[in-house]
Amino acid sequence: MRTPVGIIGAGPAGLFLALLLERLGIESVVLEMHSRKYCEQRVRAGLLEQGTVNLMRELGVGERLKRQGLEHGGIELRFAGRGHRIDFRELAGGKCVTIYAQHEVIKDLIAARLAANRPIIFEAKDVSVQNLQGSAPAIHFRANGMAEQLECDFIAGCDGFHGVCRPSIPPGALTIYEREYPFAWLGILAQAPPSSDELIYAYHQRGFALLSMRSPEISRLYLQCAPDEDIAQWPDERIWEELHKRFATVDGWKLTEGPVIQKGVTGMRSFVTEPMQFGKLFLAGDAAHIVPPTGAKGLNLAVADVRVLAQALGEFYASGKNQLLARYSETCLRRVWKVQRFSWWMTSLLHRFVDHKPFDQRRQLAELDYVTSSRAAAQTLAENYVGLPME
Ligand SMILES: Cc1cc2nc3c(=O)[nH]c(=O)nc-3n(C[C@H](O)[C@H](O)[C@H](O)COP(=O)(O)OP(=O)(O)OC[C@H]3O[C@@H](n4cnc5c(N)ncnc54)[C@H](O)[C@@H]3O)c2cc1C
Repeated sequence: MRTPVGIIGAGPAGLFLALLLERLGIESVVLEMHSRKYCEQRVRAGLLEQGTVNLMRELGVGERLKRQGLEHGGIELRFAGRGHRIDFRELAGGKCVTIYAQHEVIKDLIAARLAANRPIIFEAKDVSVQNLQGSAPAIHFRANGMAEQLECDFIAGCDGFHGVCRPSIPPGALTIYEREYPFAWLGILAQAPPSSDELIYAYHQRGFALLSMRSPEISRLYLQCAPDEDIAQWPDERIWEELHKRFATVDGWKLTEGPVIQKGVTGMRSFVTEPMQFGKLFLAGDAAHIVPPTGAKGLNLAVADVRVLAQALGEFYASGKNQLLARYSETCLRRVWKVQRFSWWMTSLLHRFVDHKPFDQRRQLAELDYVTSSRAAAQTLAENYVGLPME
């Protein structure tokens, strides 16, 4: 088998890249270790930046998003028992964010790929990459019990944080920047109408809490917890009790409860690989970087990477020039580090740290007060939250 671009991973990075290349007339093959059903049901992110929404529309996969997506023109920061709205439309030039679950994005992208009769090989086993610095890089894998080889001009490593592409690069060729956080998020999906029209980020003595949603019927709620939290110690009643405490306001705001349909603990880390390229292998999305979810950036950053990669591959196949490919890593990393900074800042602002002294708590409250009372500070939050412009 042969293809110009071999794409490993059918997450947001791999599927957006495949579609962007298709629109440029560049063929590719997507290899995915899981089944289509698994990919389409995996619950993860749910907040799309304006640029991601616009791209879905431009690519012709925005139909369901238009019907089902929930546009949010702001968020609430809640602390000391009071809520304070950050108005994105007013502060960020009319931009907003849209709630539309990641697995719904995946369904739309897979449907578009298959409708165009382009290949996605699901349940590809034992995937490995070879000859990354040579003229003929290749992907080896097993499909339907048969050993296969896919020869490519380029390989896109879109296989997430635990994939095979990044570990295939000799360790000395990469520099890793990493930060682990001393807490995690206990998240639930609940069959309950969201108690707010917009997301609520709550700072509380007992720890951070986030109210989000997936649809007008489904709430997504998170509690800051220990990194090794045992989910078995959290029956539904205990989770609701804790959520009520952390979201409580002086004016008696009410949180709507409902049956918990899924729960789990998500770790928090910041991670960057430099460079994001090795020979003919280009890393994109979580394969190259991880952000803590507080800024809702993981999916959106993956999309930003593959926009840069598609444009660079487009230039190469149209003119034979490789200037944009050579600058891929540098171009992506400028945005990656700005998004890392923002995600770290949101996380540091809103969470309780075990080593925090009363001084640090006062400082956090003062910063929250500043962000919600200074237009300049609120604008900084808003323009990062809705998504920095693509270069
Ligand atoms: C539990 C969880 C909750 C999250 N919640 C949020 C959130 O609320 N907000 C937010 O912004 N971000 C969130 N994220 C992050 C966000 O979902 C990711 O940033 C986003 O999925 C990155 O897309 P990606 O395509 O780079 O990687 P992925 O979505 O991880 O896709 C990689 C794909 O590669 C496949 N793959 C892996 N290894 C191989 C292999 N060897 N061979 C073939 N295929 C392979 C995987 O099966 C997967 O389909 C969450 C992540 C997790 C894990």
